[in-house]
Amino acid sequence: MAQLKYNRILLKLSGESLMGDQGFGIDSKMLSHYAEQVKELLELGVQVAIVIGGGNIYRGLQANESGIERVQGDYMGMMATVINGMALQSALETVGVYTRLISAIEMKQIAEPYIRRRAIRHLEKGRVVIFSAGTGSPYFTTDSAAALRANEINADVILKGTRVDGIYNADPEKDATATKFDNLTFAKVISMGLSVMDMTAFTLCRENNLPIIVFDINTKSNLKDIVEGKPIGTLVEG
Ligand code: UDP
Repeated sequence: MAQLKYNRILLKLSGESLMGDQGFGIDSKMLSHYAEQVKELLELGVQVAIVIGGGNIYRGLQANESGIERVQGDYMGMMATVINGMALQSALETVGVYTRLISAIEMKQIAEPYIRRRAIRHLEKGRVVIFSAGTGSPYFTTDSAAALRANEINADVILKGTRVDGIYNADPEKDATATKFDNLTFAKVISMGLSVMDMTAFTLCRENNLPIIVFDINTKSNLKDIVEGKPIGTLVEG
């Protein structure tokens, strides 16, 4: 088997990445697209953990607008991630991948509680672990959950799938002159005021020297190319 650059990865998928062009909810085409790519990683021998977002269904910050208390809204957002996690689990099972859905909020009938050693054991056995319900606490994001879980399970890297193919010096969807970085250090991201993940997530990665790769999740070969060490997206490390 070819030498891999990353053997255990944590893939962060936003809720938005599940909605495709629909603008809301879950697009089954997107689910199968991700499931196929994850399957390919497993076939290479990569251990795959996924943290799933919920923004396609609900975000805590929306709560205030509708007269719902922020903390209540955050719990609603965390529930949204469980719904997405269930959909993703189903899509992975459809392509023959064994998975375990884990929830940071206890929901025994549909998801396992989070027990670190158990989650690691699943990975070692070749099961995809889907972490849902974020950190289980309000005021955080699923990016923070990704940074936390990646550190806890000793992942080699966090792969943050986005609509753009890396980190730019300006928003490439708004500014045609924006240029992409191939590599950045944590210090450079801060000094240039670039946005990679929210500050809590970013700090956790920086303090523990956990590399982050921001890449285009919609290009089919990207995940495979990344674990094989090809220069895809923007790598933040050191
Ligand atoms: N959330 C939370 N604590 C967490 C993770 C998520 O309260 O640890 C809530 C928060 O309200 C957030 C929502 O769940 O807006 C959905 O998560 P997120 O916005 O991170 O999803 P994404 O942007 O990745 O789709």
